Amino acid sequence: MPNEFQPEHAPELLVLDPATEETVAVVPAADATDVDRAVVRASAAQRSWAVAAPADRARLLRRFADVVDAHAEELAQLEVREAGHLVGDARWEAGNVRDLLLYAAGGAERLLGRQIPVPGGWDVTFLEPLGVVGVIAPWNFPMPIAAWGSFPALAAGNAVLLKPAETTPLTALRLAELALEAGLPEHLFQVLPGHGRVAGRALVDHPGVAKIVFTGSTRTGREIMERCARHVKPVTLELGGKSPSIVFADADLRAAADPSSFLDNAGQDCCARTRVLVQESAYDEVHALLAEALAAVVVGDPADEKTGMGPLISRAQRDRVRAYAPPGAPALRGTAPGGPGFWFPPTVLTGERPDSAAAREEIFGPVAVLLSFTDEQDAIRLANDTPYGLSGSVWTRDVGRALRVAQGVRAGNLSVNSHASVRYWTPFGGAKQSGLGRELGPDALTAFTETKNVFLSTEGPAQ
Ligand code: NAD
Repeated sequence: MPNEFQPEHAPELLVLDPATEETVAVVPAADATDVDRAVVRASAAQRSWAVAAPADRARLLRRFADVVDAHAEELAQLEVREAGHLVGDARWEAGNVRDLLLYAAGGAERLLGRQIPVPGGWDVTFLEPLGVVGVIAPWNFPMPIAAWGSFPALAAGNAVLLKPAETTPLTALRLAELALEAGLPEHLFQVLPGHGRVAGRALVDHPGVAKIVFTGSTRTGREIMERCARHVKPVTLELGGKSPSIVFADADLRAAADPSSFLDNAGQDCCARTRVLVQESAYDEVHALLAEALAAVVVGDPADEKTGMGPLISRAQRDRVRAYAPPGAPALRGTAPGGPGFWFPPTVLTGERPDSAAAREEIFGPVAVLLSFTDEQDAIRLANDTPYGLSGSVWTRDVGRALRVAQGVRAGNLSVNSHASVRYWTPFGGAKQSGLGRELGPDALTAFTETKNVFLSTEGPAQ
């Protein structure tokens, strides 16, 4: 996200601590020439990696996991500084990266082709790596999202060029150093910090890049898909969201009204449950529970373990959020520090219509809307009344209703009586304008392969 400090062609990226506005680092920005050189080097490295025994690839990825584990606290502290994540969350993220590496390593050993009966011969399918994969990551979860796109691709025998977001390149750069320390071949996993419309576009347009995995806004995702179409280049898109929490009156209302569902990472979470849809008869009680919970959220220093919510990533993001929830709009509000730092109070808008901008558009900040519904059908209609379809929760003690509603809501990831969305061993991705394709889960590696079918005749030349 270019901001007031990062014009698109600036030769350097300025990394700010969003809690203090202090400069954390200045990082050279890659341009199209850097991308081209990186592709050439990555292609050469990938050719050897692709033919290495899967067990050898797995061994190196497990060693990489060990090195990440040994540096987990350092990685977590970097994520706190560059992205404003709560330190406890950042520690969890470093552990997630380690666990994903171990999962991907196991996947490398189990990536199998098939033998299909065909008369007159042997027919075999191979799952071949694609080559060089380009991963373009956003700033909201810089470390885990970089890992989800990159490490299953490496495990499947590809090289990876990772372009982190302008504001958050540091954990990605450190991961690339740790990969080398673990013994991964040079140039196999390279990080190219840079501007989206310079380095990002160069990666997307490069004929030597076989696939793009993009996580970011729907607007950029659309452009990337169009550009990939010119090369018939496969693309995975993890885009925006406006996910509902559908709360029926029979639910555990206190659990359902837990505001961490839309305040985690200061609401800069693609899966945030930012539309709280409540059955009419429970509306007043949920309203009261949310008011009580918002008042109790401690917003402040993300490095302090007692803090409940940190800053937004940038001034531009804070201003954008404020435009959706201006002072004076009917709302429940918590408190937030003044400045320096990019702060916004936890907010639930209570006077929105279902078709208002705040109720339909992704705000990407600590702001939810509270709406009511009458019955099951009305809940499903309201939940689906958005261009997005990433996540959502259904809260009820009626199992049949939970399943009916889960079937009726169009989204890639739903949870019942839970606000959880992502586990590295289950598939993750969006429906509608929330994306295309899936990451993680049992098919994570297959997404980075191409199926080749070979038929071998056993009939031989005629005697
Ligand atoms: P963004 O689209 O502005 O940028 C994302 C990445 O794309 C950055 O690295 C940026 O430099 C790059 N980029 C920008 N323009 C580009 C272009 N023309 N060509 C190539 N690359 C380009 O998004 P953001 O503001 O960084 O991230 C927030 C968005 O990401 C939100 O919409 C959020 O919902 C979404 N997101 C989705 C998921 C998911 O899994 N579905 C996860 C996290 C974030």
